[in-house]
Amino acid sequence: MVDIRSLSRDALLGLFQEWNQPAYRADQVLHWLHERRAAGWEAMTNLPKTLRGQLQDHFALQPLELFRKQGSTDTTQKFLWRLADGAFVESVLIPANPALYGEASDRHTLCVSTQVGCAYGCKFCASGLDGWKRNLGIAEIVDQVHAVERWHMGETRNAERGTQGNGSAPRAPQPATRLINNLVIMGMGEPLANYDNLLAALRILNAPWGGSIGARKITVSTSGLAPQIMNLAEDPLQLRLAISLHGATDAVRERIMPVNRKYPLKELIAACEYYQKHKGRMITFEYILIEGVNGSLDQVAPLADLARRLHAKVNLIPYNQVEGLPWDRPEEARCEAFLEALERRGVTATLRREKGHDIDAACGQLRLKTEKEMAR
Ligand code: SAH
Ligand code: SF4
Repeated sequence: MVDIRSLSRDALLGLFQEWNQPAYRADQVLHWLHERRAAGWEAMTNLPKTLRGQLQDHFALQPLELFRKQGSTDTTQKFLWRLADGAFVESVLIPANPALYGEASDRHTLCVSTQVGCAYGCKFCASGLDGWKRNLGIAEIVDQVHAVERWHMGETRNAERGTQGNGSAPRAPQPATRLINNLVIMGMGEPLANYDNLLAALRILNAPWGGSIGARKITVSTSGLAPQIMNLAEDPLQLRLAISLHGATDAVRERIMPVNRKYPLKELIAACEYYQKHKGRMITFEYILIEGVNGSLDQVAPLADLARRLHAKVNLIPYNQVEGLPWDRPEEARCEAFLEALERRGVTATLRREKGHDIDAACGQLRLKTEKEMAR
């Protein structure tokens, strides 16, 4: 059965017309789904019971199950979801300004997964270690945002109850406040290999009747699927694009990213230029620094050339160790030296400086750990 949250407003309006239901009923349903993030039909109290029954007969409404959570408020928090078929995916909630001045931040970015596993098998990545299992459906992508916000509403209610003492009556669900205002599609999987579901989900999360998240606040990260980058360039959604470059020459890139054999740098950069021409300056290069692979200073010149050509910003990310893989990050001073050398060549670049390998650890690791524990 199709999950109702994968429907666009137009599709629901069309259906309600067939069912001889007024249009405002469709908007009521959308309000429950996307504004209130209802996790079941029984919550939709202003709908006639017969309509609720009819919807229930036609559609699934199956929220993601929170299986495990790591991290604490005001730091990065990882959510491990169990899907209806038992598969696991992760989302990561990142406060924009992690209590920098002692105040809790109310702006949050969610890192969203698009596939169970990944077929692209980058040598450094936990998500691809066990291969690809399946694409996520539209609703499974949309519900990562809803489910985190549902969790947050629950936390807020618990905190309020705590201050009122245990004897107080539970309060009615409050009108939703948005927690998440930025999305990065950088979780498990290759987003552009699940192109249609991803774009449908992002249209819903972007729509005023849906998530109302601005397209410019949504960044899609790809390992470099050149044809799909060109499709994205022609799409009206003004998304931001991040390229997981990790190597500025074919020799380096090929060593760690098998996708480079299919789409070598020349093709990838041509697709990026096409994207940039259509969209303006919205490309970022992600460059994980891996000791002995891509962090030596001779890589700075080719990287700077590519970045200047595309007016791309470079995000340097010291590698997060993955259990069972042989890679490590260069020493801090070497990362700083790489950054300085890039900047001297006129490139806008940042270096991620958080301490601790597991705080900002890339997606895929909590799933891996959980699956290993369950196998034991
Ligand atoms: N498949 C897409 C999006 C998911 S990966 C892509 O490859 O772009 C999101 C980012 O995390 C990518 O830049 C990826 O290269 C990076 N990444 C993967 N494993 C990592 C690790 N162990 N340490 C740091 N970054 C990692
Ligand atoms: Fe897949 Fe991206 Fe990981 Fe490569 S880095 S294996 S494309 S998720």
